[in-house]
Amino acid sequence: MIDLRSNLRLKEILSEKDRFPIGVELVSTRGTIKQNQTPKAHAFSESLTHSPRVDWVSITDNAGGNPQLAPLALGTPILYAGKEVVIHLTCKDLNRYALESQLWLLASQGFHNILALTGDYPIESFEGRAKPVFDIDSVALLTMIKKLNGGLEVTAGGAKTKKKLDSTHFFAGAVTSNFKLHENTLLPQYDKLERKIQSGAQYIINQIGFDARKSHELIEYLRMRGLGRTPLIGNVYVLSPFVARLFHEMKIPGVVLTDELHAICEKQGSSPDKGKKFFREFAAKQLAIYRGLGYKAGYLGGVHSYREVEEILDIEKSFAPGDWKQFAKEILFSRKGEFFLFEQDEDSRLARPGEVNRQWAATLHAKKSNKNVTFLYHLSKLSHALAFTQGKGVAPLAEKICRKAKDPSHGPVWLRPIEHLAKAVLFSCHECGDCSLCETAFLCPESQCAKNQRNGPCGGTRDGKCEVYEKECIWARAYDRMKYEGKSEHLLDHAPVIQNQGLRGTSSWANFWLGKDHTATKATKKPS
Ligand code: SF4
Ligand code: SF4
Repeated sequence: MIDLRSNLRLKEILSEKDRFPIGVELVSTRGTIKQNQTPKAHAFSESLTHSPRVDWVSITDNAGGNPQLAPLALGTPILYAGKEVVIHLTCKDLNRYALESQLWLLASQGFHNILALTGDYPIESFEGRAKPVFDIDSVALLTMIKKLNGGLEVTAGGAKTKKKLDSTHFFAGAVTSNFKLHENTLLPQYDKLERKIQSGAQYIINQIGFDARKSHELIEYLRMRGLGRTPLIGNVYVLSPFVARLFHEMKIPGVVLTDELHAICEKQGSSPDKGKKFFREFAAKQLAIYRGLGYKAGYLGGVHSYREVEEILDIEKSFAPGDWKQFAKEILFSRKGEFFLFEQDEDSRLARPGEVNRQWAATLHAKKSNKNVTFLYHLSKLSHALAFTQGKGVAPLAEKICRKAKDPSHGPVWLRPIEHLAKAVLFSCHECGDCSLCETAFLCPESQCAKNQRNGPCGGTRDGKCEVYEKECIWARAYDRMKYEGKSEHLLDHAPVIQNQGLRGTSSWANFWLGKDHTATKATKKPS
C-alpha cells in the first residue's frame, strides 16, 4: 500500500484555523488519458497540482450520468505528485461488490479522500441508455466506508470463523442539495444530510446554488442540530451563458438558476468579453460569501484553466473583510414562494439564527390532511398495524405458518398469489422481497423511485418532481404523509436501510414474519 505522508491531508487541511482552503473540480471526458490530456488540459492539471493556492483536486465520476474516463486515471499523477485528491464515487454504475472492490483499489493506490454520492441517472450512451444500478445509495455507501475504516469483519473461506480485514483510512464526505423550492423537498434533504453525517460523512459539500440566504440557512441548520463541527464546503460553479442556460432549463439534476439570474447572465453574455469578467467576479463574490458565513472551505467547479482559477482567487483576495455582507444581499436568487426553514433577518436579508419559520412551526404537529394522504394510505397503515408489527396481531400466527411451509421464504403455497395480487395492484410491487413500504409511508421505492432510494431523497428533484419520472418525488409524498401524522421530523429515523438483494423474488411478507429482511437486522443490531 502506498502511503503519501509528505503533505497535509484533506482532513487536516479542513481543521486548520484561520484558513479558507480551496478545492478545484476536474471533470474527465470520454476517451483515453491521451485524449483527456490535451496540451491545455494537461497544463491545467499540472498547474493545479503544483499550485500552493489550490489545496485539493476533486475528480468527478461519470458526471451528469455521462460515461467518462475513470477518475483514477486523472487522479493518480496528481496524487503521486503530492497533492490531495478527492475521488467521487457514485452508486449509479456499480453495485455494492464493485464499490467495495473500487474502495480496496483506491486504498491500495494511496487515495483516501472520497466523495460518496448516489449519482445522476444515466443518460444516452453507447447504443442507447445504460441500465442504472442503484443497488445501494450514498447513505449505505458511507456506512460501507465506515465499516472498512473500522476493519471489515468477513467470514473466512466459507468457514464459520470470522476474520477482520485491514482497516482503511478513508476520509469520506457527502453532498447536500439545499436549494429546494418546497417544504416537502427541502426538509427531507436536511434530514438526509443528518443521516449521511451519522453514517460517516466527515465533510459536506453543498449543491451549486445562487441564494446566500439558503447557503446561510444550511450552516445554521447544522449548528442548530449540534452538527456545526462537520466542515461545510461552499460550492461555486463559474457560470457562462451556455452553462446558465443549462442550469435554467434544469438540465443538471438538482441545480436551479432562476429567471431573474438567467436574464442577467444572458445580458452579460452579450457583452464584448461574453461576460467573462462578470462571471469571474460573481464566482469570487460567492466564495467571499461562503467564507463570511463560516463555511470551512470553497470548491470551484466549471473552471478550465489555471489562469481563471487565479483570477477568481485574486478578485476574492481584493475584497475587504466585510464586503461579503453586501454581496450576500446581491446574490439572493430564490423563487417565488420558496420555503425557508429560518425567518429572514430584515437587515442582512439572511437567515435569523435559531428563529425557525413561524408558519412552519405552527403546522408541525397539526394533523391537516393533504393531497398525498389518500384512502390507500389509511388502508395500508391499518393493515400494517394488524399484520406487520412483530409479536402483535396476526404476526405470531403468520410466522408459525411460514416456518412450517415447504419453502419458508415463499411461505405456504396460497400466500404468494394473494401477496402478489394485493401488492401489485396497490403498490405496483416489483417483488424485491425486502419491503420498505413501512419506511416510505407506503410508497414502493422500487416502482415509484427511479433510483430506488430507501434512505431519503436523491438531490435531483425538479421543483418537487422526480429527477427522472414526470411525477412527484416519493420522498416529497412520504413527507406529506408523515406531516399529516405530526411525525415529519421522524421521516428518516429508519436509515440506513441496506436492501438485501438475495431476497428478490421471495415473499416479502414471509421474510418479515420470519425476521429475514432488513427490519429484523436493524432491530437486532447493536448501536454503533
Ligand atoms: S416488496 Fe419491494 S417491490 Fe414490493 S412493495 Fe415492497 S419495496 Fe416495493
Ligand atoms: S423519486 Fe425522488 S428520490 Fe427517487 S429518483 Fe426521483 S427525485 Fe430521486
